[in-house]
Amino acid sequence: LKISSKEIIERESKVVARNYESLPVVIAKGEGVYIWDVEGKKYLDFFAGFATLNQGHCHPKIIKSMREQIGVLHHTARAIYHNLLWEISEKLTNLMKYDKVLMTNTGVEGGETAVKLARKWGYRVKKIPDGKAGIVFAEGNFWGRTLAAISSSCDPTSYREFEPLMPGYHKVPYNDLNKLEEKLQDPNICAFMVEPVQGEAGAMVPDLGYLKGVREICSKYNVLWIDDEVQAGLGRTGRLLAVDHEQVKPDILILGKALSGGVYPVAAVLANAEIMDCFTPGTHGSTYGGNPLACKIAITALDVILEENMIENAANMGEIFRSELTKRLDKKKALIVRGRGLLNAVVLDPNLLDVKEVTYELKENGLVTKHIKDCILRFSPALNITEEQLRAGLDIIVNTINSM
Ligand code: PLP
Repeated sequence: LKISSKEIIERESKVVARNYESLPVVIAKGEGVYIWDVEGKKYLDFFAGFATLNQGHCHPKIIKSMREQIGVLHHTARAIYHNLLWEISEKLTNLMKYDKVLMTNTGVEGGETAVKLARKWGYRVKKIPDGKAGIVFAEGNFWGRTLAAISSSCDPTSYREFEPLMPGYHKVPYNDLNKLEEKLQDPNICAFMVEPVQGEAGAMVPDLGYLKGVREICSKYNVLWIDDEVQAGLGRTGRLLAVDHEQVKPDILILGKALSGGVYPVAAVLANAEIMDCFTPGTHGSTYGGNPLACKIAITALDVILEENMIENAANMGEIFRSELTKRLDKKKALIVRGRGLLNAVVLDPNLLDVKEVTYELKENGLVTKHIKDCILRFSPALNITEEQLRAGLDIIVNTINSM
């Protein structure tokens, strides 16, 4: 069926829920950092599926692994053992230095799992009175669209008219240790959940020392630190984990997105035994979580990140990206360039530029990305991008913004 982008968009609008405002480009093929639309036009993909395709589109090793596994065993459910869950779990525990893993499908399910685990620990270990366990979140957080996730959101578009929201939630400003310490003095708080770089807030990087401070304050008040690295983890910020920038270790770690390289929904929650063992049979689960196909894909996706120098490349390319943008972008139009590794954002002056129009223009010029709110452009290409490809992207971004 040969059908144009225009017709696809029209037909989609009639039958698909309107919960996204998509960039008007219809992708039919991807390879590495490139994507092609149905008419065959080639683009640099600086969006990478919400910073998921760390290993690029259709990484041959991950695709080969998936192909091999799918014809052998793809599903059992955790009520039966299979031959791969131990392997991905050993790999993750060795790499991340935790005792145990709980595999889920999506990042938000990982977040829900962490929140449930923290509450269980709060009652069983911290001895918080029944029904009183509180969780603190950083303002500006984004961890998905379930009711538990939107209940911690500061964005009314996310939570309005979906109330009533989850009780027992508290919020403190991001990057503010004093406010955090005030809140954690409440003996009924069981956890503080935070992103080490806030992705959907527009690559918000905290001050150096914030993560160390979070560790100290959480330890001082016997509160679990839940580290949401669904977006910032697995090399994205130029370290294996974003908390590695300050060499600190959270109590509960959530991974997702790049854990499969965007090939399949895979996420994971890690913690030491005294925390993870608060889950006992029947207290939590998922039909698909930890299925053989997911495990096999995640094993290879992790190998690819580690073996192909992607973490160091993300650090180096990120430096070039930010310094070139800072140097070359018209400072009246581009107010802030920020980020870590290849999780980056440019804040535009909304009085001078319509950010949505900028994404349309970037697309016309051969680069795909999306905006956040009314003035932030996000840039999160695959971590194996070459300097030549990065510089090609930089030229498009700079020429587009400066000439609008
Ligand atoms: N946590 C963070 C930091 C995220 O950026 C996201 C998604 O963007 C999620 C959690 C939710 O992941 P998913 O969309 O796979 O449920």
